[in-house]
Amino acid sequence: ATPTAIMVGTGRAAELGVLFRRGEALQQLQQADMVAFDKTGTLTVGKPVLTDIILDGDFEHDEVLALVAAAESRSEHPIATAIVTAAEQAGLAIPPVERFESLPGRGIAATIAGRLVQVGSTRLLDGLDLGDFRSTAEQVTQAGRTAVFVAIDGKPAAAIVVADVVKPRSAEAIAALHRLGVKTAMISGDDRRTAAAIARELGIDEVRAEVLPADKAEVVRGLRNNGRTVAYVGDGINDAPALAEADVGIAVGNGTDVAIESADVVLVGGDPRGVLDAITVSRATMRNIQ
Ligand code: ADP
Ligand code: MG
Repeated sequence: ATPTAIMVGTGRAAELGVLFRRGEALQQLQQADMVAFDKTGTLTVGKPVLTDIILDGDFEHDEVLALVAAAESRSEHPIATAIVTAAEQAGLAIPPVERFESLPGRGIAATIAGRLVQVGSTRLLDGLDLGDFRSTAEQVTQAGRTAVFVAIDGKPAAAIVVADVVKPRSAEAIAALHRLGVKTAMISGDDRRTAAAIARELGIDEVRAEVLPADKAEVVRGLRNNGRTVAYVGDGINDAPALAEADVGIAVGNGTDVAIESADVVLVGGDPRGVLDAITVSRATMRNIQ
């Protein structure tokens, strides 16, 4: 493509809120035959709300919520925000945290008033007998919600359910990609049933769930190895390696600086339909030149 054509295409895209950071990306994107999306914050709003706390009989609601909120006050994860907000709305005093540790893609561990508080996926609490919590969690995840487990001093204490909603335009973006002949995939760190429920709701072709942040890039590499040209769309800090690994990395507007640093394209608004605009401009630009 001529520099002029690239400049014109980049300008037209910018008017649509699609920022091409590299001219090459404008040339490459027209070849994309698969778009892989991150789930939380990319296809979903990413601001989950706490809907249920299911308690073990030995534990008390407000005490558990206060301890968990204290631990989560140190985390930036959307699930953490949901829990802290719920505790604040309940008017609970949030105790000080003595020690905090974050295990990306798994959860957190903290010491509060001498008690060990762990919050996260089954993978975080590997080795603990979660008993009835497991079947309860299975039911909520089938509905596309996320359950995290709480252990206090190594004893299962609660399952906390949070619900995130899909962005109003996500299904439309997926359907439009399919009409262009582009396959879709979703890569998520969330539970496999939760991810499958969201993917089903959106009509996504392929789902990879329970993928640790560090492994997202490897999943993208696997998709590319099938001879495909893959665009990856993500929002968060966890996505930087996946954005870099994709043929074209697309960051949605609510993304962090780190993610944007490794992205070829930035969608200014959080609307996933921006991917369509990006592909359409890329195809038009390349058609005019050939
Ligand atoms: P996604 O790919 O959907 O953005 P993440 O990789 O951020 O998901 O997280 C995967 C899973 O790890 C979550 O569904 C949750 O079970 C657990 N997790 C991560 N961070 C936290 C946290 N701060 N509190 C509780 N659970 C967490
Ligand atoms: Mg995310």
